[in-house]
Amino acid sequence: MTLDLGLLTLDYLRMSTETPLDLKKTINLPKTAFSQKANLAQSEVARLKKWSELRLYEMIRQDRSCAEKFVLHDGPPYANADIHLGTAMNKILKDFIVKSRTMMGYDAPYVPGYDCHGLPIELYVERKLGPKKANMPAVSFRRACREHASEALKRQTRDFQRLGILGEWDNPYLTMSNHYEAETARLFGRFVERGYVYKGARPVYWCIHDQTALAEAEVEYHQHTSPSVYVKFPLSSDPALIDPALAGRKVFVLIWTTTPWTLPANLGIAVHPDFEYVAFEHGDEVYIVASELLESVAAKCDLGERESSGDRVAPRVLARFHGLKLERLECRHAWLDRASLLMVGEHVTLGGEADAEVELDVREAREKRVTGKAGTGCVHTAPGHGHDDFVIGKRYGLEIYCPVDKSGHFTPDVAYFAGQSVFEANSRIVEFMRDRGVLLFTENYEHRYPHCWRCKNPVIFRATPQWFISMDRAGGPVVERDEDGRDRTNFTENFSDATSTSPVSLREAALREIEHVQWFPSWGGERMRNMFKGRPDWCVSRQRVWGVSIPVFYCAKCNEAVADPQIINNVADVFELESADAWYTREARELLPEGFKCKKCDADEWIKETDILDVWFDSGASSIAVLEHRPELRWPADVYIEGGDQFRGWFNSSLMVGLAVHCRAPFKTVLTHGWTVDAQGKAMHKSAGNAVPPDEVIRESGAEILRLWCASSNYFDDMRCSAEILQRVTDGYRKLRNTARFALGNLHGFDPARDSVKKEDMQEIDRWALAELDAVIEEVREAYKAYEFHTVYHTLYDFSTVTLSARYFDIIKDRLYTFASRNPARRSTQTALYRIADSLALMLAPILAFTADEIWENLPADETQQRAASVHLGTFPEANQQTDTSLLSEWDRLFEIREDVLRALEESRTAKLIGSSLEARVEISAAGGAYELLERYKNQLRYIFIVSQVDVLPSEEGASGAVIKIHCAAGEKCERCWNYSTRVGESSRYPTVCERCVPALDEIEREAG
Ligand SMILES: [Zn+2]
Ligand SMILES: [Zn+2]
Ligand SMILES: [Zn+2]
Repeated sequence: MTLDLGLLTLDYLRMSTETPLDLKKTINLPKTAFSQKANLAQSEVARLKKWSELRLYEMIRQDRSCAEKFVLHDGPPYANADIHLGTAMNKILKDFIVKSRTMMGYDAPYVPGYDCHGLPIELYVERKLGPKKANMPAVSFRRACREHASEALKRQTRDFQRLGILGEWDNPYLTMSNHYEAETARLFGRFVERGYVYKGARPVYWCIHDQTALAEAEVEYHQHTSPSVYVKFPLSSDPALIDPALAGRKVFVLIWTTTPWTLPANLGIAVHPDFEYVAFEHGDEVYIVASELLESVAAKCDLGERESSGDRVAPRVLARFHGLKLERLECRHAWLDRASLLMVGEHVTLGGEADAEVELDVREAREKRVTGKAGTGCVHTAPGHGHDDFVIGKRYGLEIYCPVDKSGHFTPDVAYFAGQSVFEANSRIVEFMRDRGVLLFTENYEHRYPHCWRCKNPVIFRATPQWFISMDRAGGPVVERDEDGRDRTNFTENFSDATSTSPVSLREAALREIEHVQWFPSWGGERMRNMFKGRPDWCVSRQRVWGVSIPVFYCAKCNEAVADPQIINNVADVFELESADAWYTREARELLPEGFKCKKCDADEWIKETDILDVWFDSGASSIAVLEHRPELRWPADVYIEGGDQFRGWFNSSLMVGLAVHCRAPFKTVLTHGWTVDAQGKAMHKSAGNAVPPDEVIRESGAEILRLWCASSNYFDDMRCSAEILQRVTDGYRKLRNTARFALGNLHGFDPARDSVKKEDMQEIDRWALAELDAVIEEVREAYKAYEFHTVYHTLYDFSTVTLSARYFDIIKDRLYTFASRNPARRSTQTALYRIADSLALMLAPILAFTADEIWENLPADETQQRAASVHLGTFPEANQQTDTSLLSEWDRLFEIREDVLRALEESRTAKLIGSSLEARVEISAAGGAYELLERYKNQLRYIFIVSQVDVLPSEEGASGAVIKIHCAAGEKCERCWNYSTRVGESSRYPTVCERCVPALDEIEREAG
């Protein structure tokens, strides 16, 4: 009561000297330039301009120049078309990584790259040039390709920068730059030097439309209908060699294939050595098939006898034997005067695709095969047209016979079908076989078949002379690292001699290195292992123009090939000055050492190789061409991150390049992101109308929304996107923005250096909020470290909406608004708010690159310390050493009770007992620990519950839980703070306010005075 007396006295004294304050003006209303409406589409552009004027990226580099390096190596997007949602997502995820590692304190430079060579650009330019192309010299055509790539990559650069991605945009790496082309050529020399390169005829995927070999990564599997045929090949060896029961019979081996056009190239039939085969009767003929498939073959081809009722009876089996029995016996070709050798091979399956080619994609292989029983267990083998066929053909000494030219037409030596296109010949061959009586059955067959990734036409397997990198040859030892003319100062990792000098094959080395790489998600390692287990030799030659020429020469007289690392390096030096165009503008003798003579025939006339290197060789070279040659980077990279298709592509070729040069993987960690799909999980296509063009999103909502979308779900899975999903993301953005805005608005007038309150002097609820913040900081730092950006987002979102908006801000509003602005309790809250806003800006910065910077800008200036020019120069906040767990758990319990109170208040509101919660008095009775807790917080409960009065009562013994009763608050509503109090009117100077507001007003008057 003494307090009251004192107040009255003050009240009395003042009354005579000044007029009372206008109550409305005594409320501390939030004030900030950080607007509620983001206006991102405009504000982002202005911020990008500011960053570029600041030279922010260079400032960050400067700032981190002494820090430990962290290198994310950019997988180069193809410089052809404009960016789509998938490319945008890929780059944004990379930016998350680079920005977050920077904020962990690393020096994390980002050098973007572009993949500039290759078929899609050639095709585009060819189309554009039309008939003009015919008379154009190769070098002019290359110039046109170069221009097209330059234009495309300029547009992509503009679009990537618009997304808020910081990096060396004015100096990206281009696979078509002189230096890069030279390095690519040198790298080919390196593979040669180590003995991995050979030239040979081998079946490769071949697009007859584009007339080029295709890499494994350049074919895609689509449903395709082929004619499936069952054909009989007469056995020419003595059938008694198989079983005496067959002596003197007309025996045929039945084969099955879905590519009748490969039958003219048939040179053999493969059976499994361990499977059981049967010879059975049909009329006066005897047929051989795998015994397990007898039923299905007999049914399909209608073989065996029929009963008088017309029902088929099972054919009579004359002999059973293992496939091994057939080895090296001979058939005649079904219609050609040529032998077909019987061979045994483990690749033969029952009921699968007889012509199944090597399937490199694990995703495909994982899918359940729906093929029913098909085939005969006797596999038609054409070594020039299939991988397995080639392998077994080689083993049995068969010719790699490929009577199909590059446009897919039979060569003149093919009897009956010369000059016909293979796919058109299919049906003619079927008819021809029917006429000849060698066809037992045919039907349409649906299966997954490789198609060209560019033109979408079905591809064929075709043996042609190509350059290969062997997967299984033991490579030569690594040349002394200092003697190969390479600047290795940038190569920071040492490797043990054991791994660097033992001559192992690329396959062995790859399988070993895969174990040492960290894969996210973890199935990546298994996928890569499977890829390398089954990978055939790498065909690196392409019959095209726009790329790096294979720097090999042929003797004009004897055709001897010269692939010499020294000569290749000389050629590369010329490329360095003149680009790989030099291969087309210069004569062979200009590129060779003077007077260079053929070792075999002493001639000195040379012809240049016309093939270029596979684009995957190009992009795979990037770790050497870029990481080793830029002083700001280093080899190996810490992280590669790309979509799952790169297991066949860039991850794959990069690994091989790393092995050839350093016997090591060029990456320590490989992250795989999913695809962008629509809300239903379907692939996006412009034509399907479900594509989300990034430029539209940016125009309508801002790049920030795309960035937040990338963080909103787990990118290890496919990422769904639609207008509706983006709307949800926008709502989430608004909540984060409002949280920041509340904090910034209430920091008006707060100088962190001058006004901060020491932790021990802070109000308990403020300490609680900071303890919660510490827990969030820990979680967010961990999540960034593990590349789990969706965890970052959800942690920060929950913290903003639940911990802050719904709890903390709700409770502290009263104090922030109604206390005198410099009141220590208010300063305590502002101290917490400042730390929260500062930490939020820093933690959000990698994701909300624009908004976090805007928050940063609007934080109150610190008079003693210069705030960094951008949030991106900052580092992540550190959590306090000791988390106050007892404080957290006590408040957890209080908030549980609060939930019950809020529910009871809501019910009373519905029952019209009260309007606002401040009209309520809460009576809460509890027992035991709960009662003790409430008693302890008795004076704070009204603020925690946001009501005017709270009474805590002990409940009767044995009663469980708190019992909450809501009454109308006693007294009158304070005009200033809207709380109800029986003591409104005690002050004659301020007769409409409560006993809390009277001293506050007094303090405000003093502050003003
Ligand atoms: Zn094609
Ligand atoms: Zn020669
Ligand atoms: Zn009041």
